[in-house]
Amino acid sequence: MRHNVHTLVFLYSGHHDRHGFKVGMNEYFSMQHINRNIQECTHVKKVIAFVDCCQPEIIRVNEEQRLIQFNATASTDTAISSRNEGSPFTKLLVQTFTMKASGGKCALPLCKCRIDGPFITTDSLSHYIEIHRQNGLLRGMEPEKSLIKINWQNECLAYNYSYKVAFLFDIELPKPFTSKHTYVVLATAVNDYDALIQTILFPRFAGRRRLTVDLI
Ligand SMILES: [Zn+2]
Repeated sequence: MRHNVHTLVFLYSGHHDRHGFKVGMNEYFSMQHINRNIQECTHVKKVIAFVDCCQPEIIRVNEEQRLIQFNATASTDTAISSRNEGSPFTKLLVQTFTMKASGGKCALPLCKCRIDGPFITTDSLSHYIEIHRQNGLLRGMEPEKSLIKINWQNECLAYNYSYKVAFLFDIELPKPFTSKHTYVVLATAVNDYDALIQTILFPRFAGRRRLTVDLI
């Protein structure tokens, strides 16, 4: 890890059992391993963690480090996720951090929630999660929060941004073609990585390639 990193953001959404976080078919990453790595990063002073899995554990930071951790559920409980719709907790987090910029619509059609102000803090995120725990968006899950050495001076999680966010892609065709093309994709058009590749970028790439061949 780079030595000028001061704040580490850790997000996990997936399977977790007594072996740890499941990161491959038979591959696991234990929380002890993650704790050790974080504690050894002495340049990291603040850890912001979102842990969306069954029986989530609390990260153990070293004496000098601060921790803000939001778990989808209590350490004794299971988290809920559906194969088609994904995890309601992670989706709610994404909604929190992008809502203002993407038009302010909640996943629940009748919900009138909003987050005001220039920053998202631990308090505003807690409040936002609680609203959606009560109105059923989290499907019965009871999220938990853990704070270590956090006060009003360091409780900010992110800007509550309202400016347009776009990704810039440079597409280079394989040899013998030499042309390069740049495409801009708005963040609001991207829901998942596979769809970005298959339905947004690939058709443009394929169309351009045919055009190039025709010209030659
Ligand atoms: Zn809402």
